[in-house]
Amino acid sequence: MLTKTKQFSAKLFLLFFLIIMMLPAQAQKAKYVFFFIGDGMGIAAVATNQAYLAAINDTSGFQNLSFTAFPALGLATTYAGNRFITCSAAAGTALATGNKTSINTISMDSRRENKLVTIAEEARNHGLKVGIISSVSIDHATPATFYAHQPDRNMYYEISLDLAKSNFDFFGGGGFYQPFGKNGDASISSYDFAKQNGYTITQTRADFNNLTPASGKVIATGNVLESSGALRYLIDQTVEDIPLQDFVKKGIEILDNKKGFFIMCEEGKIDWAAHSNDGAALVNNVLALDEAVKMAMDFYKKHSKETLIIVTADHETGGLAMGWAGTKYESNLGLLQNQEMSLEYFSVLVDSIIKNTPDEVVALTATMAAVKKYFGLDDETRNLQLKPDEKQMLETAFHEAKGTVEKSKFEFYLEYGGNNPVAATAVKILNHRAGLSWGSYAHTGIPVPVYAIGAGSELFDGYFDNTDIPKKIYKAMKLK
Ligand SMILES: [Zn+2]
Repeated sequence: MLTKTKQFSAKLFLLFFLIIMMLPAQAQKAKYVFFFIGDGMGIAAVATNQAYLAAINDTSGFQNLSFTAFPALGLATTYAGNRFITCSAAAGTALATGNKTSINTISMDSRRENKLVTIAEEARNHGLKVGIISSVSIDHATPATFYAHQPDRNMYYEISLDLAKSNFDFFGGGGFYQPFGKNGDASISSYDFAKQNGYTITQTRADFNNLTPASGKVIATGNVLESSGALRYLIDQTVEDIPLQDFVKKGIEILDNKKGFFIMCEEGKIDWAAHSNDGAALVNNVLALDEAVKMAMDFYKKHSKETLIIVTADHETGGLAMGWAGTKYESNLGLLQNQEMSLEYFSVLVDSIIKNTPDEVVALTATMAAVKKYFGLDDETRNLQLKPDEKQMLETAFHEAKGTVEKSKFEFYLEYGGNNPVAATAVKILNHRAGLSWGSYAHTGIPVPVYAIGAGSELFDGYFDNTDIPKKIYKAMKLK
């Protein structure tokens, strides 16, 4: 028989148990956060990639990417403080700080007077490790909004100095765009200044491979960089390149620790491909982002209760449509596979043909042969015979590339978006044949998708503003 005290304790225990049962289940804190930003990646870019994958794998409809299968899905509006169609600086500031700001401003208020604290800085201040990764230069607007505070995105050198002073643990991907400043006359390079601030810098594959958690603060750049400081388009990469996903994998290896981490990874070349209206380069770079997200998914599978992965975009670029007036209800997205290099690389090739071939007839023949070789256009074995009007478009473009056609600057822009006319026309014909069309060479104002999985992911369901995204991340991380 129980004594009175024992009976009392048993009752108390039962009461306690009941109270605990009645409390709402305490959500797990997101200790490890991955914030992926596909620059310029609208819903049409994602969907085109999914449909392209289905087409080349001989199935219909859409093939899932790692992140299109995430359980939470939202839509975010992207307008800037002083313009409806945003830019990467203002949109990045919204995503990094939860504040609207003016065009071109990097994590400062609209009047460019006060600094805005970023979620990456807040994570650092709470003892988490921080990694910033980008496929374009690491001082470009999107990554910069997470560690820098400057009145203008074009202040690349000043931004690089902010990077070195951030004390963040890992920077990966592209290099610095203007390491000696705008005029190339800075007294110390961005790289040397970062070294002075305790960073280890790697620029080769071998040094990159040797990085370990014991390496200290790291800036790991690609071993093959363009003059812009960016990694090459995925469609132009070879085994020589370090792809974006490797930077995420290495970042995880270096940043993994008991207190947690915050990683922002930008796939910046989705935007560049969209600015060029280059559908094949676009689908490839969405794939590059997907491969990077898969690295985060591998980590998530081991720490699913404490990991949050978000994939979104800062804005849409190009006004991509999955249809074209000329093809009406037809789609043939698999045709994009015929393109073997980016519009950008093909422009260089066409320029060199025109420059090095004085005879016009010979130059035109060589140009058309290159169009056939790298785009499959007029290749009957690939079912891409050119129609007379398409041939005419390419010939006109050839003369325009040679500078022998009278046209206003604006007419040129509307036709080719400032790109090499032949390369732009080859890309346009292939995109149209695939059933794709573009409405702009700039950004557009359409809301962007937000995909999330893991601790706190349910916060990302619904329709909200881009400034709400970091607020939701703070909530999931229980930082504020
Ligand atoms: Zn852009």
